Amino acid sequence: TPGVRGLKAYDPGHDLVAFRRRFAGRAGDAALVELGSNENPYGPSDAARAAILDNLHAIHRYPDPLGGDLKRALSAKHGVASERILLGNGSHELLMQLGQVFAGPGLDVAAPEVVFARHAFAVFALATQAAGARMRVAEPLPRDATMPLGHDLDALLAAITTDTRLLYVANPNNPTGTWFGADALAAFIARVPREVIVVVDEAYAEMADAPDYASALGLLDAYPNVVVTRTFSKAYGLAGLRTGYLIGAPGLVAVMERLRESFNVNGLALAACEAALRDEAHLRSACARNAGQRTALSESLRARGLEVFPSQTNFVLVGFGRDAAPIERALTERGVILRPMGGYGLPDCLRISVGNPDENRRLLAALDECL
Ligand code: PMP
Repeated sequence: TPGVRGLKAYDPGHDLVAFRRRFAGRAGDAALVELGSNENPYGPSDAARAAILDNLHAIHRYPDPLGGDLKRALSAKHGVASERILLGNGSHELLMQLGQVFAGPGLDVAAPEVVFARHAFAVFALATQAAGARMRVAEPLPRDATMPLGHDLDALLAAITTDTRLLYVANPNNPTGTWFGADALAAFIARVPREVIVVVDEAYAEMADAPDYASALGLLDAYPNVVVTRTFSKAYGLAGLRTGYLIGAPGLVAVMERLRESFNVNGLALAACEAALRDEAHLRSACARNAGQRTALSESLRARGLEVFPSQTNFVLVGFGRDAAPIERALTERGVILRPMGGYGLPDCLRISVGNPDENRRLLAALDECL
């Protein structure tokens, strides 16, 4: 399709595997510091690791195609029926599939449109293009707003036309780290026409601790056009296992199930995620440590005169007031991997994942050599 013709393959920004090889075997202050992909530096619950080992004996068998046990565990956690949950090979797969199902060819409009914000998660644009739909990109709040570069919900609403079928919004958002509060969310959802599917991507929800933050899960009963996506990649520390999930109206989930690849979540991932859900203490501890380090890192970066955007995630967007590409390259040479933001239209910024105290200390030391 024309959409696919215009796509570029995923580019992680640098050859991470080559860097891992180059820094292999180096320990302590000489080891590679990976702060480019918003991973959890504390890793998963020990119970998740144990579940992987316990299930190794069965890897010659196909996994449960329905993921029943994990869905039941999620159903208990969120207080929603299993029929409202869809599992994905990472939430990335679900976001792509949403585009295919709700903005693909053959709908009631000739050219379906998908609305999302500038500086939103890159997969929103990818899913739209892959579906052959039209992108309608809303400008974010200005850089001098209370929530700089945050989602401008009025602008998102204004971008909706009669041809809009899908709207993606991440709360908190990547790559800005920004969020919007419960009242703003409820008012926004109430104003979106019911024929538009609203995807609230909550990949970082577990890490949000602002008093005004609320998940959209509480709105699902009232709004069958709203779906929430979540992931085990961030707060649960299981990025390598590739598991995410979606919660929505039973009818919507049933439609999505038709397209799902039967074994899209592997057996080790199913077992590990279920175990991870049971270890709430580990989740709470990882989130608390992340919040503490996020505050400390933000303060340290501001003390260096840098612009640090407010964040409710496990990363901070940092403005350098000039082209940040040379700084990023110099840091990479020192073994500190961050995410350049040129591709997101923010060339003066870098996105820095919040590491553990040691990683953050090394990042700041390397930064002091480069600034
Ligand atoms: N949504 C957002 C906002 C993200 O930042 C990410 C990961 N970077 C994802 C979804 C996808 O995560 P995964 O596919 O690992 O679940």
